[in-house]
Amino acid sequence: MNYISTRKSAARMTAGRAIIAGPAEDGGLYVPESFPKIKKTLEELAALDYKKLAYEIMSPYLSDFTPDELKSCIKKAYTGRFLDPLVAPLKEAAGAFFLELYHGRTLAFKDMALSVMPHLLKTSCEKYGGAKKIVILTATSGDTGKAALEAFADVRGVTVAVFYPQNGVSFMQKRQMETQAGGNVYVFGTAGNFDDAQAGVKRIFADEELKRRMAERGVVFSSANSINIGRLLPQVVYYFYAYSQLVRMKKIRCGNEINFSVPTGNFGNILAGYYAKCMGLPVKKLICASNINNILTDFFNTGVYDKERPFHTTISPSMDILVSSNLERLLFHTGADLIKDGAYRYNGNSEALNLFYGVHATEEETRRAIFDVFSRGYTIDPHTAVAYHAYGAYKKETGDATPAVVLATASPYKFPEDVCAAAADPAEPAAHDEAKAFEYIKKLSELSGTEIPAQLAGIESKPVRGSIACSPEQMSSAVEIMCYCIK
Ligand SMILES: *Cc1c(COP(=O)(O)O)cnc(C)c1O
Repeated sequence: MNYISTRKSAARMTAGRAIIAGPAEDGGLYVPESFPKIKKTLEELAALDYKKLAYEIMSPYLSDFTPDELKSCIKKAYTGRFLDPLVAPLKEAAGAFFLELYHGRTLAFKDMALSVMPHLLKTSCEKYGGAKKIVILTATSGDTGKAALEAFADVRGVTVAVFYPQNGVSFMQKRQMETQAGGNVYVFGTAGNFDDAQAGVKRIFADEELKRRMAERGVVFSSANSINIGRLLPQVVYYFYAYSQLVRMKKIRCGNEINFSVPTGNFGNILAGYYAKCMGLPVKKLICASNINNILTDFFNTGVYDKERPFHTTISPSMDILVSSNLERLLFHTGADLIKDGAYRYNGNSEALNLFYGVHATEEETRRAIFDVFSRGYTIDPHTAVAYHAYGAYKKETGDATPAVVLATASPYKFPEDVCAAAADPAEPAAHDEAKAFEYIKKLSELSGTEIPAQLAGIESKPVRGSIACSPEQMSSAVEIMCYCIK
């Protein structure tokens, strides 16, 4: 399997080399040249545990890895790092099935891929030699940052820099990042929003002069964002895994179609669902759920992508994004360009686009979804709530009663104040009193009757290392100075 760039001029390369590279040299993103068909039947896949399934799904994409290499990466990633024995259990509640993707170290779905990605990267580096020092540059809307820090902390030969929007993440997300231990981790709080931070990282990747100076010091940049194909491929696995669990729970029979509702920001998670469909998973609809930054909703409804609109901060901060990088991959796969005419207009295969259904949730609808699900005995975080709302709206608008899996992308304990407030009264937004932030963890535990996740134990008393303030314009020089400090 080889990888090509969405902008068509970068050299095609193996998976390992594409993982080292991050984005392609021509500014595009690496995509697989074709979609492998699964060799095993759905019945056979349904009998596999998470690690065995991960091997089946990922191996055709990582054909430059030996079976032993890939198995070893998967084993290290998914043994002992997830606090649920099923890794990503499927729970039935409130008329839907929730795929809990948040049992990893940082309580968000980013751990699903970022627990394995360092191993894929290390194996690739050993295979292809070259870089002695890898610097991982990561823009984060809240969750990728902590997951990357946790994944790469004290990994030899790797340094991690995370850029988060100073005023765009939740208290707990920020605290998680600022308490990260490790001699090779740097956390930057940037002015502006996530799009500004992401644009800053993309500028560094496009800076040939800087890259040349760094290469002289043996430093190569890579990315832990979903612009790296090594982030995307491991995410395909859990779409199959959700299907397997529905089969095992006897909710569907092999071959039946199902729907997924996916809380979407950078379009990486839902794109992995598209890859699963292209590999043969019976998916009927991918419901693309947005918050009031609803550019994707408008895109799927009208074919026009217009980012000239206000940016909103919401209670689902990891979806506060207007430039969804991975949409470029979908456009490539569906044979489309975005034609500019004031805004961008889609000109590709509309059947592929019809697989998606765009819905957005207002802040009040998000809180109401938390309230409704809570009153039916289950607790969800604001991101998951956006997806649950979208699923409800889809069902109402279409009458489609196909079983649906809602991707639960974060633990409610990452947003305890918003969840407690919405569970009590969805009309009333939370006050966001930082002084009381930790009390809400305990309050949420009492309210929901669930245990405080071990991943958050002691966070209150962990030393806060803080973060380095910088503007998007300073990111490049900050990275250069950081690189001079790497031993
Ligand atoms: C990152 C994130 C999302 C959005 O995922 P994308 O792959 O960027 O679309 C949704 N929910 C949570 C909790 C996240 O951390």
